[in-house]
Amino acid sequence: MGLIVQKYGGSSVADAGRIANVARRVAEHARDHQVVVVVSAMGKTTDGLISLAQQITPTPDAREMDMLLATGEQVTIALLTMALQALGLPARSFTGPQCGLRTDTDHTRARITRIAAERVRQALDAGEIAVVAGFQGLSEADEITTLGRGGSDLTAVALAAALKADLCEIYTDVDGVYTADPNIVPDARKLARITYDEMLEMASLGAKVLQSRSVEFAKKYAVPVHVRSTFKANAGTLVTKEEQGMEEVVVTGVTHDRGQAKISILRVPDRPGIAAQVFGAIADKGIVVDMIVQNISRDGYTDMSFTVPRGDYTRAVAALEDVARTVGAQGLVHDERVAKVSILGVGMRSHFGVAVRMFAVLAREGINIQMISTSEIAISCVIEDKYAELAVRALHDDFELGRARGAAV
Ligand code: ADP
Ligand code: ASP
Ligand code: MG
Repeated sequence: MGLIVQKYGGSSVADAGRIANVARRVAEHARDHQVVVVVSAMGKTTDGLISLAQQITPTPDAREMDMLLATGEQVTIALLTMALQALGLPARSFTGPQCGLRTDTDHTRARITRIAAERVRQALDAGEIAVVAGFQGLSEADEITTLGRGGSDLTAVALAAALKADLCEIYTDVDGVYTADPNIVPDARKLARITYDEMLEMASLGAKVLQSRSVEFAKKYAVPVHVRSTFKANAGTLVTKEEQGMEEVVVTGVTHDRGQAKISILRVPDRPGIAAQVFGAIADKGIVVDMIVQNISRDGYTDMSFTVPRGDYTRAVAALEDVARTVGAQGLVHDERVAKVSILGVGMRSHFGVAVRMFAVLAREGINIQMISTSEIAISCVIEDKYAELAVRALHDDFELGRARGAAV
């Protein structure tokens, strides 16, 4: 009898009826498998809790934030376990700490350090379905932590690795990974397979269908991940290692991230140590900088621009105002709303001209490119936020991602 880990996201468990639906789906698999079920908080509960905290204070303490956010998932595990028991199935719920998920002490975005899954293992051996709260763990300082937004995906993949499960299934409100967000591009096509590397780029470039750290983890421990629908029975998308032939498709998908902000520091003295000072000030606040562009130096001065997540924008600007003064820069200009659009695919490693084609598509739509960055298998452009959806559709169209192709189902 095989072991599967299934994860159901927020919209899949949004109300009592949907929880009962999940219980029925789990029951089907429990007939011939050992099953671990990881669940998210119901519907938009996590957003609601964040907004409550913001109403108390704009700068909530990170430890207390985790104490608050971890409550969301705890509601779902109890309700789903009751629903399974009501179907006559033996089931037991576990919080993250109870299932031995240990993390570092970086509250609100903790990293998993180890999983001592004995209690889950014992429950499975006793014939029970283990229902685990996603997104949460216990730090090495014995504090409750959370794993960053979308972190239930990571809980599921990490448990699948720790328990050496045969498969990790991610059940969500779409029936797989598409060539672009199907809610934005109606013509988007479901992919039968996608490589870990492509999925990692897709996730970190804005497609929230899987949390990027969960994909990193899946790749590292070779966990096969199947993304599929909670509401339909059809096959979804398998995230796997690269196989022969996958490079034949040049571009696999288009993603966008509308949660970015851009900051430029003007006329910074161009001398060694300045970049370290500027970015050091931001790193000290725990803010992750994404794209960075530095202009060539003119008369000993240069401009630097970079992007940060929009949620960190106000703190980043505050930190930089001090630095700009200290290093003698002329000042800051910032844009709170920019978007990043990206194309990606393992085939880009071995094909030329892809970037030029992307730039030409944006030009044709009259969209100005503000910043560009590339990796081995992706190209991203920062553009005005209002053009994000137009850009995604135009790129999806031009690279012919919507037409029938071998890799699609
Ligand atoms: P869950 O609550 O189940 O974790 P999420 O909202 O985190 O679900 O992720 C699913 C959403 O990801 C979809 O509703 C879809 O809008 C979005 N998404 C973005 N890009 C893609 C893509 N390329 N393929 C599929 N879904 C995508
Ligand atoms: N409930 C958490 C969130 O909304 C974790 C998750 O759903 O994966 O981010
Ligand atoms: Mg999610």
